[in-house]
Amino acid sequence: EAKRRGGNCYQFFDEIQVKLPLSLELQTDLHHALDNQEFELYYQPQVSIATGEMFGSESLIRWNHSSEGLISPMKFIPIAESNGSIIEIGEWVLKTACQQVKATQKLISQNALHNANGDIQNCIPPLKVSVNLSGRQFQQQDLNKRILDILEETQFDPQYLELEITETTVVHNIDASLAKLMDLKAIGVKLSIDDFGTGFSSLGYIKKFPLDTLKIDRCFVQHIDTDAQNRAIAKAIITMAKSLDFKTVAEGVETQGELKVLQDLGCDSIQGYYYSRPLPFDKFCAFVTEDKRL
Ligand code: C2E
Ligand code: CA
Ligand code: CA
Ligand code: CA
Repeated sequence: EAKRRGGNCYQFFDEIQVKLPLSLELQTDLHHALDNQEFELYYQPQVSIATGEMFGSESLIRWNHSSEGLISPMKFIPIAESNGSIIEIGEWVLKTACQQVKATQKLISQNALHNANGDIQNCIPPLKVSVNLSGRQFQQQDLNKRILDILEETQFDPQYLELEITETTVVHNIDASLAKLMDLKAIGVKLSIDDFGTGFSSLGYIKKFPLDTLKIDRCFVQHIDTDAQNRAIAKAIITMAKSLDFKTVAEGVETQGELKVLQDLGCDSIQGYYYSRPLPFDKFCAFVTEDKRL
């Protein structure tokens, strides 16, 4: 019942599937992973459909376990959520993403200056970064101060930081979420709703929230060129986003055919294997200087 058309748009199905595989031993190891510096951020480029240019990336955490190798966030984030360690992990993610993306911003502007052959004019806007905020983090009383502290410490310009909050997190308590989102907005960061359309929530909330971006979940994007139902859903989301003045990012675009349909539907940007897989930081730095077009 929780499975549908081979897609995977159901939150609870996701949870059942990902919570079981992490053994008790790994759950214990998770407590030490931060101290042992076993986490690493990957960056997946986001590219504008209209210009073909990359404008930002999403930071995605990986756990380099000493004996298990690379462990997916789908496996350990739910555990970190339930044992509370997500708070510390999430702050490490935010700080590291700000530091690393700031370094890539510098790299790009130096590169542009160099290529311009002495011409100081540099019109490339700095790269944005989207960072996932877990439900537990979002619920924290002093969330704003924690984010401000990290922005201060890393000297990261808040307008280039976008926080991704899942639909399930914000619909949990609409009034409290609204207040929280307003506070975050006041810092100057951008806000996006992640996995949009998977929360089975009524849509009334969406127009009240001070959002910048809706991320269309991969389950509605895959096979959009052959799946008429997915195309109808994506079309409705994009049309609604436009009328509310939100940008749209389609997640999990893997083929040119899917891209073509999203372009026809007026989607703003994509993130997916078709343009680039998530990349470790050094590869990401190489990628941004190579200036790949969609
Ligand atoms: P998400 O936020 O929906 O992230 C998108 C996921 O889709 C990523 O999986 C990404 O690698 C994958 N993806 C992107 N393009 C494609 C594609 O074309 N095809 C396919 N098949 N997959 C694609 P990943 O990196 O395994 O992350 C899984 C989830 O773990 C994320 O889903 C997010 O919910 C969570 N997560 C990752 N990093 C963090 C983090 O730093 N903090 C928190 N709280 N959650 C995180
Ligand atoms: Ca996300
Ligand atoms: Ca997502
Ligand atoms: Ca997703």
